[in-house]
Amino acid sequence: MNVQQFTVIGAGQMGSGIAQVAAQAGMQVKLHDIEDAMVQKGLKGIEKNLTRQVEKGRMKGEERDGILQRIQGTTQLEEAAAKADIVVEAVVESMAVKTELFRRLDEICPPHTILASNTSSLPITEIAAVTKRPEQVIGMHFMNPVPVMKLVEVIRGLATKDEVYLAVEQLARKMEKTPVEVNDFPGFVSNRVLMPMINEAIYTVYEGVAEPEAVDQVMKLGMNHPMGPLQLADFIGLDTCLYIMETLYEGFGDSKYRPCPLLRKYVKAGWLGKKTGRGFYSYEG
Ligand code: NAD
Repeated sequence: MNVQQFTVIGAGQMGSGIAQVAAQAGMQVKLHDIEDAMVQKGLKGIEKNLTRQVEKGRMKGEERDGILQRIQGTTQLEEAAAKADIVVEAVVESMAVKTELFRRLDEICPPHTILASNTSSLPITEIAAVTKRPEQVIGMHFMNPVPVMKLVEVIRGLATKDEVYLAVEQLARKMEKTPVEVNDFPGFVSNRVLMPMINEAIYTVYEGVAEPEAVDQVMKLGMNHPMGPLQLADFIGLDTCLYIMETLYEGFGDSKYRPCPLLRKYVKAGWLGKKTGRGFYSYEG
């Protein structure tokens, strides 16, 4: 597949990272969000990231300028998607929001367009079913921070065509990522393994076993994890962690996936982690 026009929907932490690596791979990128403030924040974040690369001598100034010129921000969905060869959706982890968006994308996009979701856990098959092109719907699960992390979990929905899978695998390589093939079950591989560990770490705080710093230290020094599970949860976003646990809980109907009440409480309080300045740790200032 020759991707000329790469569209990203959702300009949050994931969407802006995906837009950056797509532009770095030479594609024309449209970055869409319902909120203009998020589009502007996303574009600024990309510029800051690339400038840091220039300052470290890893990239030339002209290269950065070329990458930035290839990314256009917009709040108009039609403008973002009408000429897309592939759309990668990175909006909030909510089935209702994603299905509504895929219905609209299916109407707006040309017949050849591949519709991909960066969902962390929601069933690709269910998202695909609201479109008239389920064979062209696929999961393209990037990791955070996107410019740094090498993995893309490529998730085949029940109807995903082989040629679509192969095209996305090739596209991931073009973006200098390593694709890994996974079938469509709640949480795929990454979050089915990671999130119960994070949830259990939250339980240890909830039950007074240890303070967040102590839990993270145990996992960093004792298990050689580069980041403790609570720091990682703050980094991912506690709302996203809760959505994923709920998806695992509903998807498998197994009580081992019940979200910790403390996680629910933090999300209700708006303590969503690094992105809101407060989670298990404070990021203010
Ligand atoms: P985020 O909260 O940083 O960004 C979400 C963005 O989507 C916001 O800017 C919001 O304004 C926008 N949005 C909401 N509804 C929209 C709509 N209908 N149309 C256009 N834009 C809309 O979230 P994030 O961390 O970037 O996560 C986005 C997706 O990526 C989720 O599905 C999440 O599960 C997945 N994901 C997250 C991580 C992570 O570590 N945070 C890792 C892998 C995958």
